[in-house]
Amino acid sequence: MINQTTLEYFNKWEKRWHPLRREWVVYAAHRNQRPWSFDVLNQPAKASANDPNCYLCPRNVRISGLQNPDYQSVYVFDNDHPVVGLHAPAVQENTHGGLYKRQSARGIARVICFDPHHNATLADLPLARSVEVFEVWQQQTQEMLANTAIKSLLIFENKGEAVGVSSPHPHCQLYAVDFDWKWVSEEMAAARLYYEETNQDLFASIIAAEQQDELRIIAENEHAIAFVPFFARYAYEVYIFPKQPHANMSSLHKVELDALAAVYYEVIRRYDLLFQMSFPFVMAVKQAPLDGHFYPHYRLHLHFQPPLRQPGLVKFLAGPEIGAGNFMADTIPEEKAAELRALVLTT
Ligand SMILES: [Zn+2]
Repeated sequence: MINQTTLEYFNKWEKRWHPLRREWVVYAAHRNQRPWSFDVLNQPAKASANDPNCYLCPRNVRISGLQNPDYQSVYVFDNDHPVVGLHAPAVQENTHGGLYKRQSARGIARVICFDPHHNATLADLPLARSVEVFEVWQQQTQEMLANTAIKSLLIFENKGEAVGVSSPHPHCQLYAVDFDWKWVSEEMAAARLYYEETNQDLFASIIAAEQQDELRIIAENEHAIAFVPFFARYAYEVYIFPKQPHANMSSLHKVELDALAAVYYEVIRRYDLLFQMSFPFVMAVKQAPLDGHFYPHYRLHLHFQPPLRQPGLVKFLAGPEIGAGNFMADTIPEEKAAELRALVLTT
């Protein structure tokens, strides 16, 4: 018998096709109906503006013995414990007829501090600081594009204890490497297949679909757009795209870079306002390979994957996600987008 309750289940119990990953995402939102409340939250005490034990704070000496300068805005330095290095020891070995391969891990690893204040976040700071960060990301992209030892670049921000970051000092990292990042390769393959099937640009089609549906858009201006995608895997997952196609950040005009930073700034402020805390996430700037080739089917975007589905409640990856590779989501993207959209930002 179909009653109101089962109808609710029908509406929130479905699978959706993820066009960038070419896999199904399963939604079963009836597992998570209890509305959450901020009252029960224990907010961590705010850290001080300077921490003598922080290796990112200005003037502190890092583990390498190098001292940070008395920096005043964005500060970039080479990671003291890089996972990749341009001078990594040479290894080249194929065994078992080439089945097992070893090579040296060549690349550049850097840390980008957003601000000298240990306890600040980009959401707390004026928009101008986010713009500066985007300018630095663009400069780093241009530098890696000119470096023939580099094939591709990942700029990423791990934020919050929920993703394993103990220091609140606002920063991100970059890995510039001599191989292709898997997700970008997969998305490029998905875009090529979609183009062969439909003669359409996959990324342009997704942006057009989100603009047409409208209800999942979180922030938008003339040159950039942010949305919880129809096919979101995490509850508060957000994509940010420039509206014009750019394979990487190097070709963004200043007005587009500013617009992208403004949309980013609005998204992170909405996150913090909704959860009443410095909202944790893993954010990746996804770009086409920087190897000098032309990538007409790929489009630069920023991708937020937040681990929390409610304040204090982590989305654990388990059987379906780790065991089989398909996501089972407890929330419907439209509902999570509505929460983020309903907030009124003060300025
Ligand atoms: Zn610090």
